[in-house]
Amino acid sequence: MDAQDPLRPLRELFALPPGMIYLDGNSLGPLPRATPQRVADTVTREWGQDLIQSWNSAGWFAMPRRVGDKIARLIGAQPGEVVATDSTSVNLFKVLSAALHRASEDAPQRTTIVSERSNFPTDLYIAQGLCRERGCTLKLVEPEEITASLSADVAVLMLTHVNYRTGAMHDMAALTAAAHAAGIFAVWDLAHSAGAVPVDLRGAQADFAVGCGYKYLNGGPGAPAFVWVNPKHTDRCWQPLAGWWGHAAPFEFSPDYQPAPGIARYQCGTQPIISLAALDCGLDTLLAAEPLGGMAALRVKSLALTDLFIDLVAQRCAGHGLGLATPREPTQRGSQVCLTRPSGAYAIVQALIARGVIGDFRAGAPSTAPGPSGSPDILRFGFAPLYTGFEDIWHAVEQLRQVLESGEWQHPEFNRKQAVT
Ligand SMILES: *Cc1c(COP(=O)(O)O)cnc(C)c1O
Repeated sequence: MDAQDPLRPLRELFALPPGMIYLDGNSLGPLPRATPQRVADTVTREWGQDLIQSWNSAGWFAMPRRVGDKIARLIGAQPGEVVATDSTSVNLFKVLSAALHRASEDAPQRTTIVSERSNFPTDLYIAQGLCRERGCTLKLVEPEEITASLSADVAVLMLTHVNYRTGAMHDMAALTAAAHAAGIFAVWDLAHSAGAVPVDLRGAQADFAVGCGYKYLNGGPGAPAFVWVNPKHTDRCWQPLAGWWGHAAPFEFSPDYQPAPGIARYQCGTQPIISLAALDCGLDTLLAAEPLGGMAALRVKSLALTDLFIDLVAQRCAGHGLGLATPREPTQRGSQVCLTRPSGAYAIVQALIARGVIGDFRAGAPSTAPGPSGSPDILRFGFAPLYTGFEDIWHAVEQLRQVLESGEWQHPEFNRKQAVT
């Protein structure tokens, strides 16, 4: 399968440590080979030699929009609609606030945000913080309750396209259409979608979207995130973090805020140029797939990788108490596979890491949050099709089988919890 994989050469774009099988690119993408030189150039030449002139000569000032244009190609947006800036959490605050503002213009009685109980916690925390500010309510539902929850008091439906714990993928077009039919704005988090699965924001007629730069976009730890706003909304409202980089003429230093036209207004203050340079290199690794079929080809490979992993685990690890939290139906699956086990999930992941197979662990939802979507502990494996091979899958499952069969995961060293899981 590797020999017949047209995307196989793209693996060479990454500096993957020899002997490691990296199945955690959904949490932190690996280092592209081009990044160290690019970052060094940004530091030593652009910063070191050219200093402040680089805001113009190296194009630093326009970088969030230039990098945003590259992201646009991966998510079904047009040039000028995306800006790479701040973090996913911060960008979510901006777009949720803008969406609530838009909703209140048309229908002041709409003061509820609907989201999924199993959404990534920072998304829920940001919504909770904003609800405290604005006197709104956050209503959390199970995935199968979403459409029924779109009532006349709802302003915004805020969903993450691919669930971080289960890898389950929503039908963005259908849920956006359901929201619109009920007079509700749709805000999408693409943290586990951008660079992992084809996304068509314009096709789905989504209203707002945010996403992450350090996962499948390979931008490096803490890379800037991104924000997209449907052009029909962009110029209709401010975002609340109205800093000078979002001003129409920041270098006039006027005391009055005038939002820049277009997506530039979603910037706040001075942007992290060194990190943007690294993110730019990460994006180039994905755009290198364009001549080979782009996101559509990456999706075909991603599904083949996840199918193979699911099948091999079922065949070779049977009888060890593993369950599957990820949908088997390809249209409902992102680019990760999540296994469940009643106990030992954390230690099994640690034992695998000691054998050079890097996945991660996500704790089950506490028992105070009942419901089908959220309880068991999870062993999580991401399959980034840019650099993961089919042989990697075979070896990873073989290591998992050995860890389970030998019981070595029960050693105390694998059962000590670290700060970051
Ligand atoms: C990874 C992730 C985030 C990360 O947010 P940061 O602000 O970068 O810490 C947010 N939302 C979702 C759904 C994620 O998967």
